[in-house]
Amino acid sequence: MKPHRNKIPELLAPAGSFEKLVTAIHYGADAVYLAGKRFSLRARAGNFDEEGLRQAVSYAHKHSVKVYVTINIFAHNEDLEGLEDYLLFLDSIDVDALIIADPGILSVSRETLPDMPLHLSTQANVTNAASARFWVSQGVSRLNLARELGIEEIRQIRAATETELELFVHGALCISYSGRCMLSTYFTGRDANQGDCAHPCRYSYRLVEEKRPGQYFPVEEDERGTYIFNSQDLCLLNRLPELIAAGADSLKIEGRMKSVGYVGGVVRVYRAALDWIQEQLDAGAEINSLSLPEYLTGEIKKLGTRGWTENFFDGPPDDSAMMHDRMRIEQPWVPAGIVRQAEPLLIETRNVLETGDSIEYLGRNMRTISCSVLAMTREDGTSLERANPGQRVELQTDPEVIEPELNSLFRKKV
Ligand code: SF4
Repeated sequence: MKPHRNKIPELLAPAGSFEKLVTAIHYGADAVYLAGKRFSLRARAGNFDEEGLRQAVSYAHKHSVKVYVTINIFAHNEDLEGLEDYLLFLDSIDVDALIIADPGILSVSRETLPDMPLHLSTQANVTNAASARFWVSQGVSRLNLARELGIEEIRQIRAATETELELFVHGALCISYSGRCMLSTYFTGRDANQGDCAHPCRYSYRLVEEKRPGQYFPVEEDERGTYIFNSQDLCLLNRLPELIAAGADSLKIEGRMKSVGYVGGVVRVYRAALDWIQEQLDAGAEINSLSLPEYLTGEIKKLGTRGWTENFFDGPPDDSAMMHDRMRIEQPWVPAGIVRQAEPLLIETRNVLETGDSIEYLGRNMRTISCSVLAMTREDGTSLERANPGQRVELQTDPEVIEPELNSLFRKKV
């Protein structure tokens, strides 16, 4: 068995668009996963056409970042049309691996591209060592384990295989087994197993007695009804030392449909956490004695979320892993802009921004600068009191942001 202990895993980030890819790489992702226009879950993420895929791989490789392309629908016969051509195209642009759930697509991929690394998607629901060994025997080189596993089960699977193990550490959870769910199809006709989930598990539900049509009874004593299926979001930030000790090879962040501010913010925190752990190990600390600095948890709580659960990590979750009273926690901060030029500082806004607004600059390595908007000027020299989303403005802040980095984010308090 090769030694896995205490190797810092790859940080794998979602890239639902080219801008999110650039942001994830800027903040320290080691690899990104993304999708073409076909054969992938998350059908409503921006996703990449062929030229976009080519550019994405080229940009990522220039920054020594790997690109994994999802082909993880559960395919019907007609969905397979054009698959071989698409696989050959992906090979021609040098993608680093394919993420697959369907055994048929796996088999076609192996035949078409025998040398291409194949990663098993979490949708394949690997929950035990025998299942892990089975998929390895089918040619996969990495297993993204089911999210419904505890740390002890992860250790047992690690002991059973030398194949790379990838684990979700942050992001949305399903009340069903990771996407294998018909709720969305029944309610909206949008198929979760084809990447088109409308998230009806987050809707507000009430009770109706069949002889009283039109009378809606709240399931709980809340006038808005209840969100009975609404699972909190996964956050294993504070369990990273245990995941590293267990031999995880890759830590995955969910969210190809999330905003650029969310993707950048989450990658920034997890990068800082992994770098901090590396420093402690280099200084001779024992992995099991490490507890992450509290400012990292504080930082993750500034990002949009449905709460924070460690899910199955210590055992099956109870009701406290659910959020019954609302769909999400209100975001305390929203993205304000992205740095497009450092000197003089020029940003592209992502929300309405006004002079006097309290904002924060989010540098790499957790360099955070709290400041306020002193003045904004359009590129033609006109000064602005208020900028609309998507505008490019020269920004003066108080205090001044020293040495801003291209592609860093600003956020503002709401
Ligand atoms: S409806 Fe909810 S549980 Fe079902 S696939 Fe969509 S997100 Fe997952």
